[in-house]
Amino acid sequence: GGGLDVAKVRADFPILSQEVRGRPLVYLDSAASAQKPQAVIDAISHFYTHDNANVHRGVHTLSERATAAFEAAREKVARFLHAKSDKEIVFVRGTTEAINLVVQTFGRKNIGPGDEVLITALEHHANIVPWQMLCEQVGAKLKQIPVDTRGDLVLDGLEELLTPRTRILAVTHVSNALGTVVPVKEIIRRAHARGVPVLVDGAQSVTHFSVDVVDLDCDFYAFSGHKLFGPMGIGVLYGKKEHLESMPPYQGGGDMILSVTLEKTLYNRVPYRFEAGTPDVAGAVGLGAAIDYLGQVGLDAIATHDRELLAYAEQALKAVPGVRILGQGRERSGVVSFIMEDIHPHDVGTILDREGVAVRTGHHCAQPLMQCFGVAATVRASMALYNTREDVDALVRGLHKVREVFA
Ligand code: PMP
Repeated sequence: GGGLDVAKVRADFPILSQEVRGRPLVYLDSAASAQKPQAVIDAISHFYTHDNANVHRGVHTLSERATAAFEAAREKVARFLHAKSDKEIVFVRGTTEAINLVVQTFGRKNIGPGDEVLITALEHHANIVPWQMLCEQVGAKLKQIPVDTRGDLVLDGLEELLTPRTRILAVTHVSNALGTVVPVKEIIRRAHARGVPVLVDGAQSVTHFSVDVVDLDCDFYAFSGHKLFGPMGIGVLYGKKEHLESMPPYQGGGDMILSVTLEKTLYNRVPYRFEAGTPDVAGAVGLGAAIDYLGQVGLDAIATHDRELLAYAEQALKAVPGVRILGQGRERSGVVSFIMEDIHPHDVGTILDREGVAVRTGHHCAQPLMQCFGVAATVRASMALYNTREDVDALVRGLHKVREVFA
């Protein structure tokens, strides 16, 4: 529904038309990594076939073309996030590197002994471990906003958690493990009222609905290209210009400098200050193509489709005896996480694979969250614009097979 022609969309993704174990592939693992439309594959191939050269250095034609393609991708990302300027877009390897960059630059500059970093119980390890490392290094304290049994953050005590020592709040927009949509705009407003800047982990949000960093007023926003139907190895850190300009460099090397002598280096302006070395130009070009593709399909149509399909999947799974869905918070997006009575998630995943159904099983890089729910692992089905009700039906049939095997 929602005006999305899913059959047409599916035809754009060549990988989906294959069989796995003699069955049509049912890909329900897009939260781990999404598939790529032909337009993205072609853009990468076109870059290497026609335009490949290093960027920002050469005066020759190919280098100029590669630089133009790289910077055009940056502009596409800026428009996609509704950022004020493409100078606020830093290309990185992915969400993980984006967060590590903020931790090692903004964090190192602003967080010291006795200070506090506030995260939440919903975070992916990528938004826990880098902060933990910094806190250990500088003697700061890591605190977290708790989660309730439904998978919603408990925000009643937020003002008590935001103390005069809180230097940053880092929060996911959508939980990769439960699908919880976090009311980040409200959280940002309340954090800013206490003078606390906010980093948003957008790895699971940009793929399902439109994001406006100016409207959110977030200080940093991070996402990965490979979950947005773009290539692996490229990702984005958005940062407000005033923050980026005040931050020391991340890695040192070529391209991030204005001039170097043995005694002193003058650093380049933002965002180049944070992009040492040869970047993944083809990756950025592919990400730009993915953003163009999503624009053509229509972000609103995608959001509606994703919402309706998730609701359908939740209903269908609830009807399977022995299935318990984790995380039934106020608003969910993209993923449904569940366990089956007395059956290990790994066994569920293995039997589903025999039916051609790809799901993720495990702790989803969110072990502290799993501990909150008293489980070690779940089965996670995650959906994207190319998934159909038939995919969900195949999952449900597979779960009945699982029940037969373990009966
Ligand atoms: N945060 C969230 C919410 C995620 O889902 C992921 C990927 N599973 C990451 C961070 C890390 O992304 P990447 O591995 O692409 O750096």
